Parts: sequence; structure tokens; C-alpha cells
Amino acid sequence: MTAKIIDGKAIADEIRAEIGKGVEKLVGGGGPRPGLATVLVGENPASHTYVKMKRKACADLGIDSFPHELPATASQQEVETLVKNLNADPKVHGILVQLPLPAGLDEEAVLKAISIEKDVDGFHPINIGRLAQKGREPLFVPCTPAGCLVLLKKAGAKLSGSQAVVVGRSNIVGMPAALLLVKEDATVTICHSRTKDLPGVCRQADILIAAIGRAEMIKGDWIKPGAYVIDVGTNRVDDPSTKSGSRLVGDVAYAEALEVAGAITPVPGGVGPMTITLLLQNTLRSAQRVG
Ligand code: NDP
Repeated sequence: MTAKIIDGKAIADEIRAEIGKGVEKLVGGGGPRPGLATVLVGENPASHTYVKMKRKACADLGIDSFPHELPATASQQEVETLVKNLNADPKVHGILVQLPLPAGLDEEAVLKAISIEKDVDGFHPINIGRLAQKGREPLFVPCTPAGCLVLLKKAGAKLSGSQAVVVGRSNIVGMPAALLLVKEDATVTICHSRTKDLPGVCRQADILIAAIGRAEMIKGDWIKPGAYVIDVGTNRVDDPSTKSGSRLVGDVAYAEALEVAGAITPVPGGVGPMTITLLLQNTLRSAQRVG
């Protein structure tokens, strides 16, 4: 069997085109232009790159972006005051605090300070809490896990009644991905570094989401024939044959998995392009709600 490749870039492009039209319609109808405020604290180079990418994506679709940078020495109060000012700013429909925050800052308190109506990253404890409760709906869902679900649905996976395995239990990816799968009526097993017989557990999965951060850890013979595999991992490994001397790989041994899975996301070009896309979609939805 050769797996169908789930083209995250193409799916993200399709959704971005719809967002662009949604922005035009909202603004054309006299509504507000959607605005995303980004809060970057400290000098983490990866965080700077992510925020730059998010701002560019906003500009491409006609979404305003309002960048805010604070030094690594910023106090808890300074960060929370900035967030509260953004909560009160009617031009801002989404607030993104780029994580991780520098050591010494209380991440949970900062996320809690964001108004749930502007929590486009979906990390506010109330939004996460609602995700975990039956019959409750969060206003926003974290973008990377939401992207995994969009990819599964677009690829035609049947989620209801499926056996799903999520490897990884982080607040950002693994746990919300598992909660979303439960909401879709999948039977979900969440694995982590203490899980016994991980290969055996993975082999039960009709739906397998890998969010570990370990290069090519999930081997082909851990995968149930025909399974849908979503590889969230992004790991840089040495590769002297490339110009940069390195390349990105996922958490799944892709070449092996391709022979067994029914459908699989590549890295890069799978989950990656979905994250920013769904952030923009959340920002548009937030503006539509007030507009
Ligand atoms: P974290 O480090 O926060 O979590 C990793 C999870 O994997 C933990 O739950 C950990 O278990 C588990 N784990 C680690 N080692 C093993 C092991 N040997 N066996 C089983 N489980 C293990 O990572 P994130 O969730 O933030 O990110 C995961 C990956 O996804 C990374 O590669 C990251 O770069 C990528 N990512 C990609 C995004 C995208 O847009 N494409 C967005 C966000 C992340 P335990 O809890 O026991 O420690």
C-alpha cells in the first residue's frame, strides 16, 4: 500500500483564500477590518521568526497586525497591563502572546489575562476547560490541533467510533488534539514518555497523531495498515547532502510509514501550514462576532 499524501499546503491555501474573501466581505459590508495584536517578550530568535511569519500572513489577507515587543526583563505586571490594554482596544480582535515566555514570567497568568473573546490561540484556561467538557464549546480552539482535525476531515477520515492514539500530551498540541478527537466521538488513547509498549498502542490506531518532538521515532511497523497518520513533529536533523547541512523531519519515519498508512501528512508541508492559517481564521471569526 502507498499512502495518500495529505497536502497541508494546498488545504491551507484553500482556507486562506476563503479567509481573504471573508475579510473583504466583512469590510465591504461596513464591518471592522480584522486585527491581530502580537505580543513578543524577549529575544528568542525562533519566536521572532514565528511572529514575523504571522504578521506577513495577516498582511497577505488584509488583516491588520499590531506588533508589540517587550524586553526579556519586562515584569509580569508590564506584560499583563499590555494584554489588558489590547483587550480594551476595539481595533484588536485577536491577541497572540508568543510562547514560550522568558523564565520568571507566569505564563498561565498572562494567558488568563487575555479576554476569552480575543483568545485566538485558544490557550485561555476557560477555552481549554470548555474543550474538555461535554456539551460546552470553546470560543476558540488551539490552532495546531484544530489544523490536525481539519486535515483528517479533508482527507476523508471517519472519526466517529475510530480508535485514535495521540502521542504527546502537551498543552499546545497533544492534549487539545486528544480532546478534539473525543468531541468527534473517537475513542482516544493519550501516550507520553511513560507509556509502556508504545509501538503496540500505536498499532491499534485508526487515527495516529504524533506530537513528540523526536525525529522519526514512530516506525513503519508501529502503524496499522490503512491508518490516517498526522505528523506534527518538526525536527531538524543533519544532512550534509543539503545546502544548509540540515533538513526538517517529522516524528514519523515517513518513507516506512508511506508503505503502510492509508494517508499521511509530510513534514514539511503537512500540519505546519495549517497553524497560522487557523490563527487567521480565528481572527476573522472574532471580528465577525463583533462586526
Ligand atoms: P512538548 O515537548 O511540549 O511535548 C512532547 C510530548 O511528547 C510530551 O507529552 C512527552 O511526554 C512526549 N514524549 C517525549 N518523548 C517521548 C517518548 N520517547 N515516548 C513517548 N512520548 C514522548 O512538545 P510540543 O507538543 O510542543 O511539540 C511536539 C512537536 O510538534 C515538536 O516537534 C514541535 O516542534 C512540533 N510542533 C509543530 C507545530 C506546527 O505548527 N507544525 C506547532 C507546535 C509544535 P511527557 O509529557 O511524559 O514528557
